[in-house]
Amino acid sequence: MEKTIAINAGSSTLKFKLYEMPEERVISSGAVDRIGIPGSNFTIKTTDGKKVEIDQPIENHEEAVDLLLQELIKLDIIKDYNEITGVGHRVVAGGEIFEDSALIDDKVLKEIEDLKEYAPLHNPANATGIRAFKKILPNITSVAVFDTSFHETLPEKNYLYSIPYEYYEKYGARKYGAHGTSHKYVSQRAAKIMGKPLEDLKLITLHLGAGSSITAIKDGKSFDTSMGFTPLAGITMATRSGDIDASLVVYLMEKLNITDPEDMLTILNKKSGLLGLSEISPDLRDIIDAADKGDKKARTAIDVFVNNIVKYIGSYATEMGGLDGIVFTAGIGENSVPMRKEITSKLGIFNVKMDDVLNQERGERFINTEDSAVKVMVIPTDEELAIAREVEKFKKMGD
Ligand code: AMP
Repeated sequence: MEKTIAINAGSSTLKFKLYEMPEERVISSGAVDRIGIPGSNFTIKTTDGKKVEIDQPIENHEEAVDLLLQELIKLDIIKDYNEITGVGHRVVAGGEIFEDSALIDDKVLKEIEDLKEYAPLHNPANATGIRAFKKILPNITSVAVFDTSFHETLPEKNYLYSIPYEYYEKYGARKYGAHGTSHKYVSQRAAKIMGKPLEDLKLITLHLGAGSSITAIKDGKSFDTSMGFTPLAGITMATRSGDIDASLVVYLMEKLNITDPEDMLTILNKKSGLLGLSEISPDLRDIIDAADKGDKKARTAIDVFVNNIVKYIGSYATEMGGLDGIVFTAGIGENSVPMRKEITSKLGIFNVKMDDVLNQERGERFINTEDSAVKVMVIPTDEELAIAREVEKFKKMGD
């Protein structure tokens, strides 16, 4: 039985899901955390519910991959490495180079590394994961799946910033978006449950997690999206600021005596968003609890978050010239009953009506009332499955 592994490598983490393909059966999943940091640990789950946790020093991604493969054998999930015939790596930035997923060779790997300025927190880590697998399993089908590829269809009017055009031409200064694999996956599922071709629908997909982004999907393609040149732009996120006036960045650097722009970026990426506003936590659950107990800053953080989202929905519906469906996905979108309620309650102008009972249920479903003018859906995202499917596509091409 052929197996494909989907990998999401961060700077100190490596998450994985192992599939039996083409059945798309998950046979194991897990993560290595704190790679190269004291307190490294490894968690692996099997489908029969067994969970193994290992605490041991894991110095680098190669060691992480080694440990992962050894455990798959020890736990009898695979008999030997040859059973894994494909690996798909999530890569955040593909720039204008990668309109689609790509079979990884030395040239592709170099291009991913060269795109590090477009996603400084992500691309170098993604490349490290790729190199680790290449070294240990050099002969399997290895595919890079880019978060930006789905957004390659953005029209010029939606990806250009109003800055001198030559900066776009010379330096690639434009919007690329992110979370494309998720937006694509949930929009395809939405069309399926709506029983209509995706090409005939105007959808807005809300990927609300630790990182959050909103995409307008028209004619089956990404038409506009909230993240920008990097995943820092768009709506308020757990620790990222989202959209901000560029002059404010310069002003704050002066006020805070910051001379290294990287320090300012750290504030905007790691200390802002819901955490920065609430001064409590980056986790919306903690903020909702605090707001329920009367904490004013927590309430304000939620108000800013919700208002950001409905502003994007309003503008995207306007630029698409209509709206057939809204999809909630990712950690907050899939799990937060009160956030879905707050957001939809502000969309009366579109005649969006949510069913409170359906909102409480779980799994893929509609949550709108019969008489709502717009369908509202909760669709759990599955980026790993989408990645594994991309690997299958390349395997078939090679057959
Ligand atoms: P993700 O990035 O998609 O894994 O989502 C993780 C985020 O989802 C975390 O920052 C949590 O704050 C948020 N989250 C998960 N469950 C809930 C929930 N029930 N209510 C509010 N936020 C949640």
